[in-house]
Amino acid sequence: EGIGTVIIGRPNVGKSSLLNALAHENRAIVTDIPGTTRDVIEEFVNVRGIPLRLVDTAGIRETEDIVEKLGVERSHQALSRADLVLLLLNHSEELGDEDRKLVELARQHSTIVVVNKTDLAPRLDLEEVRSLIGDLPLITTSVTEEKGLDALEQAIADRF
Ligand code: GDP
Ligand code: MG
Repeated sequence: EGIGTVIIGRPNVGKSSLLNALAHENRAIVTDIPGTTRDVIEEFVNVRGIPLRLVDTAGIRETEDIVEKLGVERSHQALSRADLVLLLLNHSEELGDEDRKLVELARQHSTIVVVNKTDLAPRLDLEEVRSLIGDLPLITTSVTEEKGLDALEQAIADRF
């Protein structure tokens, strides 16, 4: 049960941190479900009354570059059952090819774009990001400083 929500993004962008932050704030029941892909973690969290089944794609992404090493097909598989996608981008790094490919995938889903690490010196061109993501909502966060999480929760709630 729960709305299938997949967190995607380059390694180190803060996917696991975001999952933990959302789970902690909501006092979630935490369940680690070992699946076919090692280390994929599901956590059930309640965001403003909306039950989410958050899926951290850590295990898949440990290959460093899912798009290049496992192919676009694998990404589609990871996303195929998602009702909602959270695409994380790193505010402190320039947009890379992998980010662009993930944006392309994300545009085929109900996606919220999360630009994380806003506490660090900015290197991401937000205007470029906005032009690439089209109508998708964009939220800026600093998960470690607990900034933007309310706005993200509101954006999630607005979707349902
Ligand atoms: P993942 O590989 O995408 O799951 O990324 P992690 O959640 O493991 O985070 C990678 C590193 O980035 C960790 O050291 C986090 O503490 C750090 N991190 C996560 N969010 C933020 C943030 O908003 N700001 C800063 N400065 N560091 C962050
Ligand atoms: Mg992780």
